[in-house]
Amino acid sequence: MCESGKKAVVIGAGPAGLTAAMELKKRTSVKPVIFEATDEIGGISKTVNYKGNRMDIGGHRFFSKNEAVTRWWNEVMQRDRGGDREMLVRDRVSRIFFLRKFFDYPITLSCETFKNMGLRNTVCSGLDYLKARLFPCKEASLEDFYINRFGKRLYKLFFEDYTAKVWGKHPSCLGADWGSQRVKGVSVTAVVKDFIQKKLGKKRSAKEVETSLIEEFCYPKYGPGQLWECVADDAAACGVELHKGHLVKRVYLKENRVESVGVVCPDGQIKKVDCDYLLSSMPIKELVAAMEGPVPQRVRDIASELPYRDFITVGLLVDKLKIKAKDGAGLIPDTWIYIQERDVRIGRLQIFNNWSPYLVADKENTVWLGLEYFCDEDDELWNMEKDEFVCMAVGELVKIGMIEKSAVLDAHHVKVKKAYPAYFGAYYELGEVREFLDTIENLFCIGRNGQHRYNNMDHSMLTAMEAVKNIEKGVVDKENVWSVNTESEYHEAKSK
Ligand SMILES: Cc1cc2nc3c(=O)[nH]c(=O)nc-3n(C[C@H](O)[C@H](O)[C@H](O)COP(=O)(O)OP(=O)(O)OC[C@H]3O[C@@H](n4cnc5c(N)ncnc54)[C@H](O)[C@@H]3O)c2cc1C
Repeated sequence: MCESGKKAVVIGAGPAGLTAAMELKKRTSVKPVIFEATDEIGGISKTVNYKGNRMDIGGHRFFSKNEAVTRWWNEVMQRDRGGDREMLVRDRVSRIFFLRKFFDYPITLSCETFKNMGLRNTVCSGLDYLKARLFPCKEASLEDFYINRFGKRLYKLFFEDYTAKVWGKHPSCLGADWGSQRVKGVSVTAVVKDFIQKKLGKKRSAKEVETSLIEEFCYPKYGPGQLWECVADDAAACGVELHKGHLVKRVYLKENRVESVGVVCPDGQIKKVDCDYLLSSMPIKELVAAMEGPVPQRVRDIASELPYRDFITVGLLVDKLKIKAKDGAGLIPDTWIYIQERDVRIGRLQIFNNWSPYLVADKENTVWLGLEYFCDEDDELWNMEKDEFVCMAVGELVKIGMIEKSAVLDAHHVKVKKAYPAYFGAYYELGEVREFLDTIENLFCIGRNGQHRYNNMDHSMLTAMEAVKNIEKGVVDKENVWSVNTESEYHEAKSK
């Protein structure tokens, strides 16, 4: 079906863009040309290398319920093209730090949990949970979503403040959709089921495990960016053109097609590049703003108001942690820790040594941490100078007893724009934007910000794979591309 001599422009060299280019090469004779605005590969799934210490922007677990994606990742890491490729299998240990104590995440039915919560909280939580199950409320907000699944007290203890940290808004102001994307099937019922199945020693398939309950995941030896850099190398080896430092600034429309794109080159010159297809992983907000042609004003207005949440992470090198493992010796086992303490702004703490020892230049004598803050572009946190920010972040870790100030050896500070497409405000009008975008025959919106959906790497890849299938078969309908990560099971559960 696919004709040769055609060209597809791919915007972005993150997971979605790179997957699209590789799949186009594999399945069609269409020539992919990738334009990447930055000088880096991997988008928000890149790995930052600071003096030999590698930082993962957020801690990326490689886990998918889709076998094709898992196979795709494994094939990349098994290809013998250099780069010391190896996929590690890691244990997920992530806990909640609250009231200066550790709780399992998600909460488990352990003596430790009940001891930490105290008798009164435990009993009240149980009663509240029963009440929520017997008399569920109508789910108008994220607050309702949590209360229906955990009961009011557990929600107040474990979700209310943390959610406000992540989104900068109280859960009562957020849509229930965020819960469905973020915590999916996690609930007290899921936790109980998980507990019973573990006690019975029953092994479950990837499909049966809720994403938030996954206990083992894969991880490239040198972080997620390693995998995407390997994909970029493989793409170059099979003739894919990848232009780093090239920002797509204009998208020229003619009737119901994209005719060409305007690209800002590293020397500042703008060049026009014709295309037969456009696969875009750039944020929808910026894509619509870049369009030259007949775009309805209403679509422009909605897209310009799409909300995002931004992210700052501090890589902190320390000689040791103050907080010790249970046996009193060695490093605590956590890959990451949710910091629920109300008196600090830090949201999560990554311990990169536990993701992969190869991320740390001197793993014997140093601990390489990632301190994560959620913020809005141009808010107080975003505008803080690097040194001031690092000083504040160190002060917070000292305050909650994780480190001594004297343990700090070095720090790096990374800002990430649009880390999270947000589900409030103009998001609720996104359908109108999508409807318009779908009228543009040869345009495929793929990835996370490319669809304004809380897509993980696997979902982002799947959107690219679906788009390429359509190009291969000459299908102009985009329903399959937008349907990725809409989880029919959730909608079924919701309507029960
Ligand atoms: C804190 C955090 C933790 C996460 N943890 C996980 C996890 O554990 N597991 C998981 O699977 N996923 C995780 N994710 C999600 C994962 O990072 C994304 O799903 C994935 O990176 C999205 O891929 P993408 O290609 O759609 O977008 P991106 O990674 O955002 O890549 C888009 C690329 O397009 C480029 N671009 C944008 N605009 C233009 C333009 N105009 N011109 C040219 N180039 C442009 C950007 O520079 C970027 O390189 C996490 C995300 C965050 C923020």
